[in-house]
Amino acid sequence: MNPESVLCSICSQLKDRENGFQKYGSNYPDTYLPAAANQLDIIIDFRPLSERMIQLRRCPECGRYYLYQTDYEYLTNGTEDEQELIRLSDAEAEEYIRKGTELFKSS
Ligand SMILES: [Zn+2]
Repeated sequence: MNPESVLCSICSQLKDRENGFQKYGSNYPDTYLPAAANQLDIIIDFRPLSERMIQLRRCPECGRYYLYQTDYEYLTNGTEDEQELIRLSDAEAEEYIRKGTELFKSS
């Protein structure tokens, strides 16, 4: 692991991949992303009006990029919510920034 992420008070609380899953109307134990995930700045919101979010987020302390995705399933016996936070490499982050720039340029 890059030593920078250990020094950062936010990134040190996040693994390379974090998952949260909540299923309503079941006894299945819900899991959530660490609170540190909410401290990340939203840089690009790829789907602002969707329940299935894709966001490029950045750590305000060290500038590391993350991809935040959610999924939402409506079921007859309840709903399922899923969140995923993935730490991006610099090359991956650049790719998302490029996509985001193209997306908002055309609108
Ligand atoms: Zn950080």
